[in-house]
Amino acid sequence: MSKYIASIDQGTTSTRCIIFDQDGAIQAVSQMEHEQIFPKAGWVEHNPQEIWDNTRKVCAEALAQLDLSASDIAAVGITNQRETTVVWDKNTGKAVYNAIVWQDTRTDKICQQLAGSEGPDRFKAKTGLPLATYFAGPKARWVLDNVDGAKEKAEAGDLLFGTMDTWVLWNMTGGTNGGVHATDVTNASRTLMMDLDTLDWDDDIVAEMGLPKSMLPTIVSSSEVYGKVRERGVLAGVDIAGILGDQQAATFGQVCFEPGMAKNTYGTGNFVLLNTGEEKVLSKNGLLTTVCYRIGDAKPVYALEGSIAVTGSLVQWLRDNLQLIKAAPEVEDLAKSVEDNGDVYIVPAFSGLFAPHWRSDARGAVVGLTRFAGKGHIARAALEAVAFQSKEVVDAMNADSGVDLTELKVDGGMVGNDTLMQFQADLLDVPVIRPKITETTALGAAYAAGLAVGFWKDEAELTKQWAEDKRWEPQMSDEDRTRLMAKWSKAVQRTLDWVD
Ligand code: ADP
Repeated sequence: MSKYIASIDQGTTSTRCIIFDQDGAIQAVSQMEHEQIFPKAGWVEHNPQEIWDNTRKVCAEALAQLDLSASDIAAVGITNQRETTVVWDKNTGKAVYNAIVWQDTRTDKICQQLAGSEGPDRFKAKTGLPLATYFAGPKARWVLDNVDGAKEKAEAGDLLFGTMDTWVLWNMTGGTNGGVHATDVTNASRTLMMDLDTLDWDDDIVAEMGLPKSMLPTIVSSSEVYGKVRERGVLAGVDIAGILGDQQAATFGQVCFEPGMAKNTYGTGNFVLLNTGEEKVLSKNGLLTTVCYRIGDAKPVYALEGSIAVTGSLVQWLRDNLQLIKAAPEVEDLAKSVEDNGDVYIVPAFSGLFAPHWRSDARGAVVGLTRFAGKGHIARAALEAVAFQSKEVVDAMNADSGVDLTELKVDGGMVGNDTLMQFQADLLDVPVIRPKITETTALGAAYAAGLAVGFWKDEAELTKQWAEDKRWEPQMSDEDRTRLMAKWSKAVQRTLDWVD
């Protein structure tokens, strides 16, 4: 009997393969970073071939660590950076352009044109999303408009569109040799083209987007057998049985199975998801409505989401562009070298502002500088910016759902930062809780795959596996909280209307 699940986490900065056992414990991890390509201000690309090569290597390396073969693996799950878009030729298997990453803002004009006189909420009732550069559909449109011959090839039925889950699935199941061209509901719900009620492509929106229907993958559930890994390669013959976009996967891995449960992931960006059950809640406060997951033929579970573009990547910016620190974790000591933020605020609107503002014309600002301000204050302001942005999103969620959050489960690369987690609990005025396994993204995809093949019985079994590692209790006075949030809002105002 196969004893493990292999989870592929195709993230923004790296691709990982993690091997989980029956208890949901990590037995092996292999990871490779890929190049971040910045051709112009506001543009971010990845090389899809590099990502696919890395995917194969990390799978081989993770299996080798435990000396496993394909027969030891019960199923493969895939989770991915969402919205990142690739268009490829189905006859050659080659991408016609680099993958355009979710943070990329080049589709601003396309989004404005699509919005027309009706405004950015034109497709919101159907898709749950505002027209913003973040989402996948307009990125594919950009490729057809700007790559020589792409439109003609697409119309002839030679090109395929996909997010990174689709790219990995198609290649793993055979590529030009019969690869499965599918995407799960959670990824499809980020394209601006899926109807949240029918869980199918909306023909009118697809036509408006200017994409031939033949390019689009089939929409499948998050947990079912999609196909087998092709006969060549390390995991040959194993069922691929779970796909979830990374943030939905983290929500699943945090076992947020009941309406009202929420998690916040602190990675390159931050993403708060609140399970709203079988009810699709349309936001009045700048949040997205998205599919949280769908298990086989069961009804879909929806979520409200607050997406924040820049959080961990602000720490990377302090490291790479300002060279204030050598490694990301050093930001904490630097921040603790000062008593408070010294009235300095950083609003990292590098890709405009996402939730709850959705302003692509915003650009970043450091405000409140005096001759007193030093690098400690900048470090502190950077960490605080992560928590302020999360607080704005949680406030929007409380307003939309009419119920106040009582605790927040957290995960992602930044949750090792005590100073940040304490400040977050202080600002939210609820406990912040970190689980023992913080690789919740990979775990969520493993869970979805494992459920599909009977490796795990049901959600109740998974819930029993979740264990608390640490919690931070709020300690701040109401007065301080109100004062700090008012100052933050003032700083945000300074970043708006920057782009002409
Ligand atoms: P992703 O999955 O989005 O690639 P991760 O969850 O791996 O990201 O988190 C990495 C991010 O967390 C990086 O942007 C890094 O700057 C930040 N980070 C990692 N450790 C710390 C730390 N101790 N304090 C602050 N930021 C950190």
